Amino acid sequence: MIVRSFDEKVIEMYPDVLDFGNLETLQVNVGNRCNQVCRHCHLNAGPRGDKMMGKGVMIKIIDFLKAHPHLTLDITGGSPELNKHFRFLVEGTAKIVSRVMVRTNFTVFFEEGMEGLPEFYREHGVVVIGSLPCYLRENVNKQRGEGVYDKSIKALKRLNELGYGDTLELDLVYNPVGVHLPPQQKELEQDYKKYVMENYGIRFNNLFTIVNAPLGRFKTMLDSSGEYEKYMRLLEDSYNPRAALNIMCRNLVSVDYRGVLYNCDFNQVVDLPIRDEHARVMTIDDLEELIGEGFRIETGHHCYCCTAGSGSSCTGAIA
Ligand code: SF4
Ligand code: SF4
Repeated sequence: MIVRSFDEKVIEMYPDVLDFGNLETLQVNVGNRCNQVCRHCHLNAGPRGDKMMGKGVMIKIIDFLKAHPHLTLDITGGSPELNKHFRFLVEGTAKIVSRVMVRTNFTVFFEEGMEGLPEFYREHGVVVIGSLPCYLRENVNKQRGEGVYDKSIKALKRLNELGYGDTLELDLVYNPVGVHLPPQQKELEQDYKKYVMENYGIRFNNLFTIVNAPLGRFKTMLDSSGEYEKYMRLLEDSYNPRAALNIMCRNLVSVDYRGVLYNCDFNQVVDLPIRDEHARVMTIDDLEELIGEGFRIETGHHCYCCTAGSGSSCTGAIA
């Protein structure tokens, strides 16, 4: 299928938009192991994931953050809690940087060895961001597996008891169950808040709507249903220049389990690392120099998921 180059499309209107801006968020993917096997997962994460970050890379990340305490640290996976050094990374960074966010799937709270996880989050003031792709049981279980909804509600109640959604930040992530774009973020947030409060007494702070990336297991699903082309067409036709101005990779760098640097988690999936002018792959060892010198953002067709409709980033709509 013919999709116009994303690079060409964005620089037509904004020639400098693919030049990296200021580093605000360091996103760290600690591994692809997950207790769930969601249909839309752009990473193909699952219980057999074996790409796990070791302590050596984490120590380098901690050292980098010591010199940049104003940054936000965004820890993701897989299910990041399943990395055996996960608590080491949180303990090593929570007092250093202004904001540590963890992307959880909630159900991991009930896995063996995860006892005390919500209390651990509270103790370290971690911002918890959790996936809940719908407020209705049927849709959540369809996308994420049987029983996921009830466990998520139980986890949310526990977090509320500890002050999350009140004095501590608790955010939810919505992504479409089918082949379409998310509805308006603010309106959907009101619907979520009303439903979970009325039905379960649950409160949370923000809802982030995310456009599914046509990668990983979601791409396999689109391929097998014959809808890949239709979805790419939808993303391209829904291109929003205002979202292009705010793509998250202008202010975020993503680190993989080996310490290799990318413009985002999606670029990790398509093996599109940040390189220098000699095509050498950049790692956490190079990050200090890299942000000083500046660099060009690497893009692919999947980037259209960040600029479709209201746009999309790891913290929701951007336009
Ligand atoms: S979408 Fe998240 S919770 Fe689901 S399999 Fe992927 S990493 Fe795990
Ligand atoms: S997919 Fe990644 S590199 Fe592409 S626009 Fe989105 S954040 Fe930037």
